[in-house]
Amino acid sequence: MSPTPRALERLIQEFTRLPGIGPKTAERLVYYLLKQPKEVLSAFAQSLEQAKDEVTTCAQCYRFSDQSPCSICADPRRDKTILCVVAESQNIPVIEKTSAFHGRYHVLGGLVSPLEGVTPDKLKVTELETRLKANGMKEVILALNPDLDGETTSLYLAKLIKPLGIKVTRLARGLPMGADLEYADEVTLENAITGRREVN
Ligand SMILES: [Zn+2]
Repeated sequence: MSPTPRALERLIQEFTRLPGIGPKTAERLVYYLLKQPKEVLSAFAQSLEQAKDEVTTCAQCYRFSDQSPCSICADPRRDKTILCVVAESQNIPVIEKTSAFHGRYHVLGGLVSPLEGVTPDKLKVTELETRLKANGMKEVILALNPDLDGETTSLYLAKLIKPLGIKVTRLARGLPMGADLEYADEVTLENAITGRREVN
């Protein structure tokens, strides 16, 4: 018999499915939550459900948003001729904070990863091509993590986009290899955007 009650084991198992949460952390979170009053837990569960119900995906850039089109896609002051391609929705607030970018975004929904079986058809690549062909686009900035999957995806996309006669740039080398855009500090990221280089 396991010394941990079965319901707790199940919950710990659920938590380990979250990114960056190992068994030890999962256990700590579950025991912490159990000590909370039932109302707190109900409110927590409700917030989760509400977020899932109320948050939609922008039909233009595919980021999570309150409405579609999202506030960035609907803003006429944003440059339509320059598109910043990111892997996930959560990369956008980080780039927005730098104020170094005034174009629009496209969220891929992940990165090409042969090891994990993520092929381009599982990402918003066809949708990207459609946008690029429609809008008189001048430049695409590939703002992907400087790790193996980010590199693979950047190379794949550059090959796809360049024949369309659109300039393809990527973030400058200020970001250390293996870094995560989500945790990059604003100054480093701003330099990486303003110092972006054309992909040859
Ligand atoms: Zn949008």
